[in-house]
Amino acid sequence: MSRIVYVNGVFLPEAEATVSIFDRGFLMADAVYEVTAVVEGKLIDFDGHVRRLGRSLSELGMENPLDADDLLGLHREIVERNVLEEGLVYLQITRGVADRDFAYPEAATPTVVLFTQVKPLSENDQAKTGIRVVSVDDQRWGRRDIKTVQLLYPSMAKMEARARGADDAWLVQDGLVTEGTSNNAYIVKGGAIITRHLSNDILHGITRAAVLRYARERQMKIEERPFSIEEAQAADEAFITAASTFVMPVVAIDGKILGDGTPGPVARRLRAIYLDEGRKAAI
Ligand code: PLP
Repeated sequence: MSRIVYVNGVFLPEAEATVSIFDRGFLMADAVYEVTAVVEGKLIDFDGHVRRLGRSLSELGMENPLDADDLLGLHREIVERNVLEEGLVYLQITRGVADRDFAYPEAATPTVVLFTQVKPLSENDQAKTGIRVVSVDDQRWGRRDIKTVQLLYPSMAKMEARARGADDAWLVQDGLVTEGTSNNAYIVKGGAIITRHLSNDILHGITRAAVLRYARERQMKIEERPFSIEEAQAADEAFITAASTFVMPVVAIDGKILGDGTPGPVARRLRAIYLDEGRKAAI
């Protein structure tokens, strides 16, 4: 089935959608993106994604061509046109088309692209078994707080993880875990949820913010600080969060099995809370 996608003001079949070879998103990775989960045809944590998009654009000196209402309208329309019940909406905004130059063009019209992906989110087989991660040196650039499309290093790290028999990589800088290739990383020890504090070293996950808020509301203990792979391997349990996975248990780190090798109670509880609260707040 061919999807209906959105490019610069027009909804059209995916095979007919085109972007210029001079687009700075293509030539320079001069573009930002957001991925929003859809459950029961509704958008999860949408306001958070809109806010972060605005911040990413402003950090790169790009105008936001769409206000929050435009964005909501486009997201809803693409969900409707594709009859998307559960999955993801991908949105990308590039600086636009200009002759190739390192300097930003004086005036360029941003390119806006949206498409959908069907994905099982609420009932996900991996969430039942948990995933295995391996550590990989974090060689990304220093502004990971900006959600740009320069995703080659995370792709390489993911492929290294696959080659080593794991599902994903946890990236390590100066002996401490930053985050996963496309998710935030957590461990649980003695009931405390431990995750790296916000800085330019990690993406400020929208799912992270929501999960920590729900955990705090339930008086669960949270420590926002870095942790090492050794500390993670000695933890009671571990998990990741992202819009594309929600709360996903981690059952092995660099081959060390955590607990009894099945998803831990805190990760399972947070996943259930996130699904429940996410659905309630979905728009
Ligand atoms: N960290 C990185 C590097 C990511 O790419 C992502 C999502 O793509 C996340 C964290 C999780 O962010 P969110 O919860 O907003 O999906």
